[in-house]
Amino acid sequence: MSNLLKEIEEILLMGPGPSDVPDEVYTALATHTIGHMDPYFITIMDEIKTQLQKVIKTSAKLTLPASGTGSAGMETCFVNLIEPGDRVLILINGVFGMRMQDVATRLGARVDTLEFEWGTPVIIDAVKKKLDINTYKIVAVVHAETSTGVRNPVAEIGTLLAGSDTLYLVDAVTSLGGMDVNMDKWGIDSLYSGTQKCLSCPPGLAPIAFSDKSVAALKGRKTKVPNWYLDLTMIINYWEGHTRAYHHTAPINMLYGLYQALDLVLAEGLDTVFRRHLENHQALVAGLEDMGMQMLVDEQYRLPMLNAVKVPDGIDEAGVRKALRMEHKIEIGAGLGPLAGKIWRIGLMGHTARPENVNRLLAALKTALGK
Ligand code: PLP
Repeated sequence: MSNLLKEIEEILLMGPGPSDVPDEVYTALATHTIGHMDPYFITIMDEIKTQLQKVIKTSAKLTLPASGTGSAGMETCFVNLIEPGDRVLILINGVFGMRMQDVATRLGARVDTLEFEWGTPVIIDAVKKKLDINTYKIVAVVHAETSTGVRNPVAEIGTLLAGSDTLYLVDAVTSLGGMDVNMDKWGIDSLYSGTQKCLSCPPGLAPIAFSDKSVAALKGRKTKVPNWYLDLTMIINYWEGHTRAYHHTAPINMLYGLYQALDLVLAEGLDTVFRRHLENHQALVAGLEDMGMQMLVDEQYRLPMLNAVKVPDGIDEAGVRKALRMEHKIEIGAGLGPLAGKIWRIGLMGHTARPENVNRLLAALKTALGK
């Protein structure tokens, strides 16, 4: 092994992702690499699709892990659905809504946005008013806004869009595997996620799912999908059917890792996994409040897996993070954009969401704050 790799220490990952990876997933990643057309591998691909359908709660046939991180999932959804001039509405209350706007604009969409204060959720009435005035091909929102710790009302927005021709596109990068994500019940047409948050697999794959309505929009395109690597009309021929056609070499070992990570989530049971995230979040918040700290987000909109806590007055934000990392071997995240220097982002994602980690962080934080 290279000397540099040997020097990497075990750091407890309590930031906005990646999260801690369980040993079973590391073992799976180290499995012997086989060919991407090998019958064993095709079986694993089929099983991953079924596992993803269970975790995403969808019967969508076009469900697969795209190659690349969560942003590749975002690009896959937008690039396959947008044609130049299409009207798109993006609901923004953090970094990842802004990234959606950037991606959709680059594809030549006519993008409208509704912006909400960072740290607060999307307001349904504002969306309703916008939809009363305009018709959109796509309405897009981030379920769990990792930059602020806010849960957006994804089910309610789905109800607003029900029965319309609009495609409902949702970012489930941080929510999937840590809280309920119910694609079919909530009327979602296009969903993407990532592996390194609550699925506790290293970064590198982006689960995506397209409803029949999205597949019809994809098949009905007047123009070719403008990105070769992410073109689902071609990728589908590798992931579906009796005979598979090579598109690009699948990231074999990453897919072993995801296969194992999804198996762990499903074996524990989705409801149990969600409860574990919630209980550890509650314990963390109680501990932080005992220390006199305040959360950024109102209780009813808080995410269990991403806890945004206000930096107390007079405290060196970066200094405390550095002390946690160097002296206690714990990584937490900083605030982004307007929240830079004002909050810490403490992740309780997937395998990280355990009482021993909550207690270790609270004790280390007490020391770092000189309490
Ligand atoms: N969407 C959300 C909500 C995220 O939290 C992230 C990453 O943190 C992304 C998209 C982008 O994913 P990645 O960094 O894996 O490309």
